[in-house]
Amino acid sequence: MRIGAHVDPTDPLAEATARAADAVQFFLSDPQGWKAPQPRTDADLLRDAAVDVYVHAPYVINVATSNNRIRIPSRKLLLAHAQAATAIGAKGLVVHGGHINAGDDPATGFDNWRKALTFAAEAGGFGLPVLIENTAGGEHACARRLDALARLWDAIGDHQVGFCLDTCHAHAGGEELLGLVDRVKAITGRIDLIHANNSKDRFGSGRDRHDNLRGGTIDAELVVAVIQAAGAPVIVETPGGTDGQSGDIAFLRGRLGPKTPSR
Ligand SMILES: [Zn+2]
Repeated sequence: MRIGAHVDPTDPLAEATARAADAVQFFLSDPQGWKAPQPRTDADLLRDAAVDVYVHAPYVINVATSNNRIRIPSRKLLLAHAQAATAIGAKGLVVHGGHINAGDDPATGFDNWRKALTFAAEAGGFGLPVLIENTAGGEHACARRLDALARLWDAIGDHQVGFCLDTCHAHAGGEELLGLVDRVKAITGRIDLIHANNSKDRFGSGRDRHDNLRGGTIDAELVVAVIQAAGAPVIVETPGGTDGQSGDIAFLRGRLGPKTPSR
C-alpha cells in the first residue's frame, strides 16, 4: 500500500522524506489561478524517484460549465497540466469533477466533459491517467453524488479516465462511506487513488474542510475500510503540516501494514 501526502511543491521529495511517505501530490501552479505550469528544474529527480508522484490540477478548472469563458480556458489548462505532470513522471493528474450553473441542463455538463476529453485526445492525449475527483459541495456538481457520477461516466467512460475518491468529500457531500467503494466501482469500474481525509463538517453539509484522520466527524476506521476495499494508493490532504500528516500516515500504516519497499 503506497501512502503519501499533499505537500508544498518547492521540494516534494524532501517533504516525502520528512513524512516517511512513499507518494506525494502537489500543485504545479497556483491552485486558484489560471497560469500555465512552468517546467520544473527537478523533473529528472522526480521522474527517477522511488516516491510516486501525483499532481493536483488547479481548483479553477471547470470543464463542465456552460460558461465558455471558464470552459475553454479550463480544458486548455487541464491539458497543459497533464503534459507538465507527464514531464515529471507523475502517475496521475487529479481534477475536480466540476459543476454547471443553476438552471442549466445537467446533460450539458456531462457533454462538456466529453467534449473536453475529445479535445485532449485530438491534441495528442493527456500522456498520463487523468483522475476525476468527487467533490463535497454544490447542488449542480458532476461528481458529488453517485447519481451524477453515473451520468458523467455514461458520457465519458469510453475515454479511459480514472477516478479519485476523497473520503471527506464523499461524507460532506452526502454519500455514506460504508460500502461506498463497491457503489463507486459499479459505476466507474476503478478507483485509482484515495484522498484519505477526515471532515470538520457533518455528513451532507456540502462543506469542504479536511481534518486529520482521528479528528473530524468521520470514524477513522471507516476511512481505513474504504482504503482496504479500494486497494488503491493513498494521499492524505490533511492539516497540521509535517507533524499532522506524518501522524496520519503513521496511523494508516499501523492499520494497513508497513511501508512498501521502494521499487
Ligand atoms: Zn481531495
